[in-house]
Amino acid sequence: MPRVFIKTYGCQMNERDSEAVAAQLVAKGYTLAPSEETADVVLLNTCSVRDLAEQKALNKMKAIAGVAGKERRSPVLGFMGCMAQSRGQKLIDELPDVDLVLGTQKFHRAAEYLDELLNGARKKIVDVAEEKDSEATIREHLLNGSAKKSVSAFVSIMQGCNQYCTFCIVPYTRGEERSRTIPDIVAECTELVSRGVKEITLLGQIVTSYGKRDIPARDGKSAFVQLLEAVHAIDGLKRIRFTSPHPKGYGDDLIDAYARLPRLCESAHLPVQSGSDRLLKLMHRGYTREKYTGIIKKLRAARPDIGISTDIIVGFPGETEKDFEETLSLAREVEFDQAYIFKYSPRRDTPAAAMPEQVPQRVREERNQVLLQTVNEICAHKYETFVGRQAQILVEGPSRRNSARMTGRTRCNKIVVFDGDERHCGQIMDVKITRAGSFTLYGDAAILNL
Ligand code: SF4
Repeated sequence: MPRVFIKTYGCQMNERDSEAVAAQLVAKGYTLAPSEETADVVLLNTCSVRDLAEQKALNKMKAIAGVAGKERRSPVLGFMGCMAQSRGQKLIDELPDVDLVLGTQKFHRAAEYLDELLNGARKKIVDVAEEKDSEATIREHLLNGSAKKSVSAFVSIMQGCNQYCTFCIVPYTRGEERSRTIPDIVAECTELVSRGVKEITLLGQIVTSYGKRDIPARDGKSAFVQLLEAVHAIDGLKRIRFTSPHPKGYGDDLIDAYARLPRLCESAHLPVQSGSDRLLKLMHRGYTREKYTGIIKKLRAARPDIGISTDIIVGFPGETEKDFEETLSLAREVEFDQAYIFKYSPRRDTPAAAMPEQVPQRVREERNQVLLQTVNEICAHKYETFVGRQAQILVEGPSRRNSARMTGRTRCNKIVVFDGDERHCGQIMDVKITRAGSFTLYGDAAILNL
């Protein structure tokens, strides 16, 4: 049977899409190849959020085609995902060795199209059209792929985004917001739990907008909170997380859900992007700094141990020293547990790319360094405060760096490495934190679990 290798660039949504494509292909009899060198089909699932990610995928495909040519092999080569969606036929015009270009609403067609390419019925396929109900097609899982996957699974609840932040290409590559139904999502989660999954992360480009247009609010609860309640009621499920939300979506109903629903982990990723109201407006984010910090206060009042992470862009067009200082002061005020900092990268066809006063690369680099140092110092201090404390972890599997040790995750989303073995996998256990490293805690399970 054909061997397929899938390489994924970008976010967790892309990881999830790739997993669904792989599971679909395995169900059709394909096997998963460990590398592109041994594969009959190579698919690159691409990301368009930054130019660098696009260039990496293009260069990778050129290299794969070059090596295959020298070895006189002709694997089927395909691009999927965001860059496939935005560039379409141009990818084949530029790279004639590419056979398949599959857009973001077409992942479920991969098996059908690969069959046609492999049996010679078609020579090239480009499909980037919209497809109704495609949001409900990302549902197959590869639970046996790794220990972690059988403990913790991602479930795609919606596709697309209508927020149109001025720097972001996602609304153009992923399309309008489209949500699955609550019963459909609950059925997928229930099936996963019956197969041993303990933790589910609900996934989408802007999950807090889930069901906005299709599911009316009930008893003051948004569609997203109704979904959280429905998933929370699944017997045997231990933990619920979600990503990525938008700060605008943190109404009092969602904050109340954190206080009411014990399986909803005390962890929130709230992308702030900037601490300057002037820039937040230019970015079309839809909130002010005051509104944002107000949400954080309410979340911390509801769950004092909540872990809060964020995304920040430095060097957005027009960002002055004063704007940047406001971002620094916001980082100090909020004291994030983790912050992902991005140097602004102009994306074609987005409003921000055409804005005046683009910030020079050198300034973006400098601000990136300064902010990185500030947030890292704060994060290191936060991690240190865990030393000596007890934490509850869900054990996910062997540590990536040292397979002789196990790794788990606290409810507030911190990774804990400890001496354990495979029998701990999937268990919820208490560990005593003995040491803090860089974004990792080290624990001792024996002290508490004799
Ligand atoms: S909310 Fe997120 S996905 Fe949507 S446009 Fe803004 S940054 Fe992009």
